[in-house]
Amino acid sequence: MNQLSDRINNLSTSATLAMAAKARELRAEGKDIIGLSLGEPDFNTPDFVKEAAINAVKDNYNSYTPVDGYVDLKEAIITKFKRDNNLDYSKPQIVVSTGAKQALFNIASVMLNPGDEVILPCPYWVSYSDIVKLNEGVPVEVKTDIKNDFKMTAEQLSAAITPKTKMIWYSSPCNPSGSVYSKDELRAIADVLQEHPNIYVVSDEIYEHINFIGSHYSMAQFDDMYDRTITVNGVSKAFAMTGWRIGYIGAPDWIARACNKIQGQVTSGANCIAQRAVISALKADPARIQYMVDEFKERRKLILELLGNVKGFETNEPEGAFYVFPNVSAYFGKTISGKTINNASDMAMFLLEEANVATVTGEAFGNPNCIRISYAASQEQIIEAVNRIKTALS
Ligand code: PMP
Ligand code: GLU
Repeated sequence: MNQLSDRINNLSTSATLAMAAKARELRAEGKDIIGLSLGEPDFNTPDFVKEAAINAVKDNYNSYTPVDGYVDLKEAIITKFKRDNNLDYSKPQIVVSTGAKQALFNIASVMLNPGDEVILPCPYWVSYSDIVKLNEGVPVEVKTDIKNDFKMTAEQLSAAITPKTKMIWYSSPCNPSGSVYSKDELRAIADVLQEHPNIYVVSDEIYEHINFIGSHYSMAQFDDMYDRTITVNGVSKAFAMTGWRIGYIGAPDWIARACNKIQGQVTSGANCIAQRAVISALKADPARIQYMVDEFKERRKLILELLGNVKGFETNEPEGAFYVFPNVSAYFGKTISGKTINNASDMAMFLLEEANVATVTGEAFGNPNCIRISYAASQEQIIEAVNRIKTALS
């Protein structure tokens, strides 16, 4: 008999992590799988960051840290917010967590009461809806269109707001679409929110530095949004530090205090060595990580060119992050190599089994017509993967 809680029985498994695990399993069986499922830079963590960690070990950083992070890490985060985003935060407004994922979980658990609605422009990052549901909130999906670069308009937002709306969560640059909201687009959203002073915004900026258009705007930069925006960021993507598990928020201090409180009962402070390393990462001139961004830009060009030759794949031009999100619905209802593809999940499974390429179904991101392909892989792998996809589909 299933003795588990309803909470866990109702929770979906993270589709990104599940696909990565499946790819690992098939590889262990000897299959030559190209993994384009997980959103994880394939670079090494920069040497200057690794050295800071080694020094931290030698310097005996081994004790519990303050729950919300070392004071000098908070200072580095404050300097980073000022330098990169022209945002002024003070120490009580910063909380360091075990990845941006924990930061998001903290936010949901301190902000949501049962039944509170959270507007999620679709496609959204895979874990948003389950984090909201785990905290008894109700995700409200706002469908966006490839023609509008998968961005939510002010009109769509307006139509989705109800008396129960508590928050809006989005990422920019967006995982999975790569879209970047411009200052004007954010302003239009902020204008709608002026009529709804009790709605809070989560602006997930973890891909901030992986931006190919050069301009990044934070919702909290608008004076009239500062007091109700929680800016989420982290080092996983920009510094190739996914396994180090450090994320952070800048937030109104009453929200930060609440996040500190919940974290104190769940995990305590994030890993001490990783926190020391992140100080050096955040203090560094972003020019030191530009080589990774430049390489992602090359790969984006490559994959867009190659996918342009795959019949039936319709792709927007992502402006940031390292994903493409092609609409593959032209294949729905077709049978290829004896397998019928009725939806994006079938397509992702077909590509895994017939092309040995791991991608993720768009269903996990709230868009059942698309699949997500991560191009955080070498150019050789990208070329080989798209070749295999083309062959399998033709
Ligand atoms: N937000 C977005 C949009 C992401 O893609 C990720 C990727 N893992 C996260 C948050 C969580 O990042 P992490 O927990 O590694 O800091
Ligand atoms: N954010 C990454 C992704 O979307 C990592 C996987 C995860 O944390 O779910 O693939």
